[in-house]
Amino acid sequence: MEVIRTVKAMQAHADARRREGRRLALVPTMGALHAGHLTLVRTARAHADHVTVSIFVNPTQFGPNEDYARYPRRLEQDVAALEALGVDVVFAPTVEEMYPDGPAANLTWVYVEKLDAHLCGRYRPGHFRGVTTVVAKLFNICRPHVAVFGLKDAQQFQIIRRMVRDLHYDIELIGVPTVREPDGLALSSRNTYLSPEERKQAVVLSQAVEAARQAIEAGEQRPEAIVEAMRQILARAPLARVQYAEVVDAETLQPVTRIRPGQRVLAGVAVFFGDTRLIDNVFVEAPGA
Ligand code: AMP
Repeated sequence: MEVIRTVKAMQAHADARRREGRRLALVPTMGALHAGHLTLVRTARAHADHVTVSIFVNPTQFGPNEDYARYPRRLEQDVAALEALGVDVVFAPTVEEMYPDGPAANLTWVYVEKLDAHLCGRYRPGHFRGVTTVVAKLFNICRPHVAVFGLKDAQQFQIIRRMVRDLHYDIELIGVPTVREPDGLALSSRNTYLSPEERKQAVVLSQAVEAARQAIEAGEQRPEAIVEAMRQILARAPLARVQYAEVVDAETLQPVTRIRPGQRVLAGVAVFFGDTRLIDNVFVEAPGA
């Protein structure tokens, strides 16, 4: 396994593998890898014969009061875990490599309009612009045929899908279902911030979206009833501060007034425990007409 730190070296490596006829997969991450990330890597393996995992804590997707500075960084451990999985390349650039003039002086952005108006986008202005910009850069640097993302970040996945379509990236996108702890909590690098009591109470996120799934599959069509059911479950956690509980159309990511038969929707929640922000969500197809 090679660890590549520069854009030029990564592009040269990817081009050489492409010339050999290899099928390249990319798994973009911010590191502090957990079993969810490793499932993405195994999925990438199954769809390609060369796997690059990028590890880059991208400053432009963090808001001024978010956790960029304290985000966990454990490159050595991550590299060892990826080596054991048979990954071909770890691309771990510095901020200077990715933003030569510094992130604050970046002028070129990739921004997918409208799809960030609700869910996380509403509360994290500029977040998805940072995500799509860095993913576009990573696509241009790692030159994958296939890119693998987690559906845990459902809004991110839909926005990246739209970017790939609109910018004609010749890249197959694969979304991997959320990997969870035995009690249902979605694995996240941010779970390490939780106190033992917060960790216990964090189970309400998965319970809330699971309740939404069950209600929709049972034929509930009123988003406000589904939101209320999610809020009631979240209220069982006294340490939780709810940022949002929402039901939107899965493609437009806009609120729905009534769920239509056969409509695909996304139910999502974001909750703070202290300064730690956790999200969870599910795609659900309403029962057919
Ligand atoms: P991150 O390092 O948090 O930016 O995540 C990198 C990739 O891993 C993203 O595509 C995430 O959606 C995905 N991911 C994070 N947590 C999980 C999880 N619990 N299950 C599946 N994918 C995940």
